[in-house]
Amino acid sequence: MIGRYAPSPSGDLHFGNLRTALLAWLFARHDGGGFVLRVEDVDTGRSSMESAERQLEDLAAIGLDWDGEPLYQSTRSDAYATALASLDTYPCYCSRKEIQEASRAPHAIPGSYPGTCRNGAVVNPGKSPSVRLRSSVASFSVQDFFAGSYTGDVDDMVLRRGDGDWAYNLAVVVDDAYQGVTQVVRGDDLLPSAPRQAYLASLWGLPVPEYVHVPLVLNAAGKRLAKRDGAVTLRDMDLSWARAELARSIGLQPASPAGLLEQFDPSKLSREPVVFKNPIPE
Ligand code: GLU
Repeated sequence: MIGRYAPSPSGDLHFGNLRTALLAWLFARHDGGGFVLRVEDVDTGRSSMESAERQLEDLAAIGLDWDGEPLYQSTRSDAYATALASLDTYPCYCSRKEIQEASRAPHAIPGSYPGTCRNGAVVNPGKSPSVRLRSSVASFSVQDFFAGSYTGDVDDMVLRRGDGDWAYNLAVVVDDAYQGVTQVVRGDDLLPSAPRQAYLASLWGLPVPEYVHVPLVLNAAGKRLAKRDGAVTLRDMDLSWARAELARSIGLQPASPAGLLEQFDPSKLSREPVVFKNPIPE
């Protein structure tokens, strides 16, 4: 069994990200599994090497260890190009606005691509096209540790963006397989992406990992915790306070990494949302 954590290096990890990372590590290591890291720097405009390094430092500071060197997605273009070439795809010239308008039509699935460019009808020659999958299913089912059997929409998803950047869904599936990942633990905001990713894996004949989508940490107002909530990154907090609070947020007594592993029992995990209380008064 190999688990992983795969942050996007576009800023420091906040308490909710760190909790998910710790859970991913606990799920993998508590039965002696492997654990790998991946730096998801496919979005070249938002990613930075400095941010990646700070994230890795923070993950080490909360007690995580990982096998081998982290994989940087920016080094993986050749693998993505090979994977893309084996799929049935088409160029898409639609703008974001056109897609939004078309997906408001009565029978459209909200947020899904309505297939405007599928038959080569609309060509907007001024725009460099994105590349979309010609999907032959409308939905796909996955198994999730918390959600059970989960079925989600699969549309003609973007695999490569018009600006040349690789799309998250393509990169994540290619790299989970490349790194031998068999268990994906991540925030439950990504549960709707799992059917798309499992479908892609099936097209490439790759194994679908076990999914564990964990509830996100909320702010005092009950909304998903974000950087704008103030002192939420590790560097804003006292490290030992943060480590203790991360353990408590998972229902564990503060302890060393080995001590946390001893206590960890996935069947006892609470599904209640965790609310983060900022240690520094505003
Ligand atoms: N890189 C994604 C993020 O930071 C997570 C990808 C994943 O875990 O599949 O939101």
